[in-house]
Formats: sequence, C-alpha cells, structure tokens
Amino acid sequence: MVDRQAHPVILVVEDEESYRDALSTGLSVEGFVVIGASNIAQAREFLDTANPDLVLLDVMLPDGSGLDFCRELHDTTRIPIIMVTARSSEVDVVLGLEIGAADYVTKPYRLRELIARIHAVLRRPVSLSEGEVVSFGDLRIDFVRRTVIRRSQEIELSRKEFDLLALFATRLGQVVTREVCLDTLWWGLELSDTRTLDTHVKRLRQKIEDDPANPRHLLTIRGVGFRLDA
Ligand code: CA
Repeated sequence: MVDRQAHPVILVVEDEESYRDALSTGLSVEGFVVIGASNIAQAREFLDTANPDLVLLDVMLPDGSGLDFCRELHDTTRIPIIMVTARSSEVDVVLGLEIGAADYVTKPYRLRELIARIHAVLRRPVSLSEGEVVSFGDLRIDFVRRTVIRRSQEIELSRKEFDLLALFATRLGQVVTREVCLDTLWWGLELSDTRTLDTHVKRLRQKIEDDPANPRHLLTIRGVGFRLDA
C-alpha cells in the first residue's frame, strides 16, 4: 500500500490532456501520486476507488460545472479542493460563491506555485475547529461536548467509541485505513490484533445504525478500512 504521509494522492480533474499530462509528470516528481480524470463522471469513480487526499478541479468540464461539483464534494466529504480557473474573471466566481474550495489557481500557473499551495492545503489540520458540530442523517456529533445526539436522544458512547466516531467524522466520505485507526486510538497496536478495532466498530454500528448488520453510514471497505458516509 502507498505510504500516504509521504505520497499524498492527488485527483486531477481536467479535460485538457496536455495539462493533465504535465501535472502528472510535475507532481509525480514531487512525490505525489497523481490520478487523472477527464470529466466529472470519471472523477466520481476515482473518489470511491482511489480515496484521494486532495482534488485539483478545473472549472470548465465537458459533463458539467466544476463549481457545482466542488460544492457537492464540500457538502459530502472533507477532501480539500483546489479550483483551477482558466480566466481571472472566473476567480471572482470561485471566491464569490463560497463553494467550499480550499484554494484556487489561475491558468497558466507555475508548477512551483501550485505545489506550494498543495502542500499548504494538505498541512491544514483535519481536526475540526472549536465548537464545530457535524450533523448528518439523524446524527449530531458535538466535538466540544463530546456528545452524540440521535433523534434528539443522547447516545452513550465509551471514550474510545467517541474517539473512533470523531476520527471517521473528521474524514466524512473518506476511507480511514485500519492502520490510521490503530495508530490514532491504540498508538499502533500490532496489526495482527485488530479484533479490538472490529469490536468497537460493531458497537458503534449498534448505536448509530438502524440496521447494524446492513450499515448505511459506517461502511467497511474490505481490505482497507472504514468510511463514514453522510
Ligand atoms: Ca477545462
């Protein structure tokens, strides 16, 4: 498996092949793993299969607007997005619409500048700002009070169960690997002993899912880890 800390995965959504190729080469040299998508439909597929750490998103795409797609991603995931605009007139649009982009660059941009911006965005902490609450479905997670409300009833969670749910919630829509779960909650317990993790996931499902055997939110990604979906 790719070491994500050393080699973050960047999904480049760009219909111009020359740009895509240049970015692939330029970013690979810098240690990034680059996945190219030429339209939104392809990008959606890669979001599920490649679990990118960052999306570089062109505004004008053949099957839709990058702005709409950016807003959609922002609402459903916590993957940071850098918008790529072709004209400076689009910058105002990107900034004005509050579509949830972490940053933007304007074509033609210099590769060095883009790389600096990617590093800056990836360095931003994934942890939520103070007072932030994550709500989806019938769940409401309050990170300051460390409470989870489901259908206006507080759910009782152990400390570890809350920490695990919080870890998933800060990466809503992204796969969290077993390694990351173990490193974060059990300080790198031997990977051969993952039953503790599975037990906690099972208990969480019993508390947050209508049908724990067929979870809707807390999904197992076979061979990799888990993903919390809104
Ligand atoms: Ca384009």
